[in-house]
Amino acid sequence: MSENAPSLFTRIISRDIPAEILYEDELCIVINDIAPQALVHMLVIPKQEIARLVDAGQADQSILGHLLLVAGEVARQFGVDDAFRLVVNNGADAGQTVFHLHLHILAGAKGSKEFLEADIGG
Ligand code: 5GP
Repeated sequence: MSENAPSLFTRIISRDIPAEILYEDELCIVINDIAPQALVHMLVIPKQEIARLVDAGQADQSILGHLLLVAGEVARQFGVDDAFRLVVNNGADAGQTVFHLHLHILAGAKGSKEFLEADIGG
């Protein structure tokens, strides 16, 4: 457990703050982004608080792999497995605004400019 206040996403995971929860297992949660930048914009979030991708270490190898597998699985579930993007913003200067690791899944009409050009930085 973090010594600091729980992150926004931890508060969503604990149902302290409402969100559209699309998938959950013992290790992670998938929610709809509150400000979608594409037709489909979901966030894959580990239950473990890792602030940024670079803060993950060897001990986090299996959770990192799990997040990618879940991203593929929910993309399949939502019918966008043929065309989606995964984005991780690492650090404020890269547009990260919530310092609890998360993968953005972005999809739209197949090959559409909308999701190919979505700017999900901050
Ligand atoms: P970042 O900019 O850190 O890569 O991504 C954070 C994302 O979290 C943004 O796309 C933002 O729209 C989303 N977000 C921020 N606050 C909330 C919230 O309260 N609920 C949900 N569902 N998404 C949020």
